[in-house]
Amino acid sequence: MNIVDLHCDVLMKLWERKGSISFKDSEVLDANLERLKKGQVKIQCFAIFIPPEMKAEEKFQAALDQVDYFYTEILAKHQEIKHIKNWSMVHSLNPGEIGAILTLEGVDCIGNDLHKLSILYHLGVLSVGLTWNFANLAADGVGEPRGAGLTKFGKEIVAINNANKTFTDVSHLAERGFWDVMELADYPIASHSNSKTICDHPRNLTDQQAEALFQKKAMIHVVYNPPFTSTGKLATISDLIKHIDHFCTLGGINQIGLGSDFDGIDQKIIGLETAAQHQNLINELLKHFTDDQVKGFAGGNFLKHLPV
Ligand SMILES: [Zn+2]
Repeated sequence: MNIVDLHCDVLMKLWERKGSISFKDSEVLDANLERLKKGQVKIQCFAIFIPPEMKAEEKFQAALDQVDYFYTEILAKHQEIKHIKNWSMVHSLNPGEIGAILTLEGVDCIGNDLHKLSILYHLGVLSVGLTWNFANLAADGVGEPRGAGLTKFGKEIVAINNANKTFTDVSHLAERGFWDVMELADYPIASHSNSKTICDHPRNLTDQQAEALFQKKAMIHVVYNPPFTSTGKLATISDLIKHIDHFCTLGGINQIGLGSDFDGIDQKIIGLETAAQHQNLINELLKHFTDDQVKGFAGGNFLKHLPV
């Protein structure tokens, strides 16, 4: 069954290792090309993520370097990978092709310069998360004790996302900022978040947040990170399905998708260690849901909730 995965950190690993690893088959990459094929991934989002400890003035260059790896190591070397530059292109993928989407996880790298954001849109960014876990000039992340809402600058970015038909990603955003986004964004999305009711972690969404997203026709993509999945020592596929189940009870059956976070996580759900294993989740879901429902979670729901 075709998979759409809204989040991975392959670009960060390619950039950290300065291109010394191969996207095609490096064991270091949970979501290398061979594994994406084995897991039947049809569309993979590739996040630009800049480590928070970097000097502010070096962050934009680092973002451009990650984009360079996207173009040279992922696109140029692999004919079967198609760069999705706009939403209409997701419907024109041929059999055997994998769509690749650039996303931005946190706007720290643009500083206070919207021109830099414009450059990233031109390079293909189709989804923008305002923050990672900490605060920046746009908003506070879930790890910022202040927990403030969006700044004027953050609100400007949401308006530009709306105009560009770009998602505004609420994963990682502090709750007050989340509610600001819900008020302002035409295309909100949670690209990699689970349910706080099932697993009480600051990165997860409350029922009120999930319901607000569903009411706004937005998607929630569940994340394969054990600390967000289970409060136990280990996390299983059944634990992850509890989150999907719970989001369904909140009205999200047609608005749930997948956002693995492969290559951004150190711990793994048993049986979901790499992108090659997405179908383990699908097979387990098929025991609980109908074929059409599972096809929706795997990617169909996302394709019906694109910014248009
Ligand atoms: Zn993340």
